[in-house]
Amino acid sequence: MIPITRPFLPPRAEFEALLDEVWERRWLTNNGPLVHRLETALGASIGAPHLRCVSSGTMALQLAVRALALDGEVVTTPFSYVATTSALVWEGCTPVFADIEANTLTIDPASVDAAITPRTSAIVATHVFGSPCDVDALEAIGRARGLPVVYDAAQAFGTTVGGRSVLTFGDVSTCSFHATKVFHTIEGGAVISPDEQIVEAVERLRNFGHVGYTTFDGLGINAKVSEVHAAMGLCVLTHLDRLLARRREIADRYRAGLAGLVDEGRVRPQHHRSGATVNHAYVPYLFEDHARREKVHAALVAHDVHPRRYFSPGLNELDYVKPVALEVADDVAARVLCLPTYHDLTDAEVERVVAVVVGAHRR
Ligand SMILES: *Cc1c(COP(=O)(O)O)cnc(C)c1O
Repeated sequence: MIPITRPFLPPRAEFEALLDEVWERRWLTNNGPLVHRLETALGASIGAPHLRCVSSGTMALQLAVRALALDGEVVTTPFSYVATTSALVWEGCTPVFADIEANTLTIDPASVDAAITPRTSAIVATHVFGSPCDVDALEAIGRARGLPVVYDAAQAFGTTVGGRSVLTFGDVSTCSFHATKVFHTIEGGAVISPDEQIVEAVERLRNFGHVGYTTFDGLGINAKVSEVHAAMGLCVLTHLDRLLARRREIADRYRAGLAGLVDEGRVRPQHHRSGATVNHAYVPYLFEDHARREKVHAALVAHDVHPRRYFSPGLNELDYVKPVALEVADDVAARVLCLPTYHDLTDAEVERVVAVVVGAHRR
């Protein structure tokens, strides 16, 4: 069977060497030395001085909302994982959906601008499938309208724009280190900001609001990271270059295999912005219509290949948001399919997937 993804596990000896340290210290959580080591290593890897690890990508978003004191409406994308919207609603904000760009599948800056009202407190955009948003346009809108720009960069670890990690853009970026992401700590996430005060607020928020043993600065929650999770992150990080290189090869192989269908105009890959180097966290393709997407999906499942209809239905159809029709996003959600990709997917397996996708267009 070929799943949509498989988590990367480092050689066990590497993990155990760090566990030996944990056993020796008996320091298991509460801002331990491995968490510090991981934060330093991640900061160096992405070139961001201000970063704090938290317990998940969802908590990273929720703490970003808290740290920025967002309320009222937040203009956001309908084409993302559910957590982009649920985090806003959980924190008492009202998501207002802007449409997406047909080629990059990221939020459309013109639609963002049109969705802003006097009640808007921020823009929350997703670098969907690891492909960057139009950061220049979004940040220009943020400046012009006096609104912070938050990026849900959960899928974008390893992506760069103009040679800079995409995680360093915006007023705040959040990342997920869930087991299915390119870089992971099993469960985990991070908040990154050019503003040191924001990440210091996150440090208090993730630890019940503690500023001393008996003193608190405001409301907090438990979003801490354990030493064991940090150990996994430190191990995975040393393999990052190889993981990214293999994902690129797989994406290129799919592209070559599906080039005929692309030339015929029957399938379309996600377009990446110029100046971007993407992490190929996902391999999305758009099919000519909903029926064809369903047919390709069924053919793959019949061959024990398990793609995913990320992200379908759109977040604008969740039962806890105000429903709204969006021309591009609704069309994309009906036609998109993500093909399997992971570090140990073999060339032969990619060819098998390609053969089924092509075959489903020839009948
Ligand atoms: C994975 C993901 C999240 C949630 O991250 P968790 O670590 O699973 O909580 C949020 N947004 C996007 C776009 C994601 O892909």
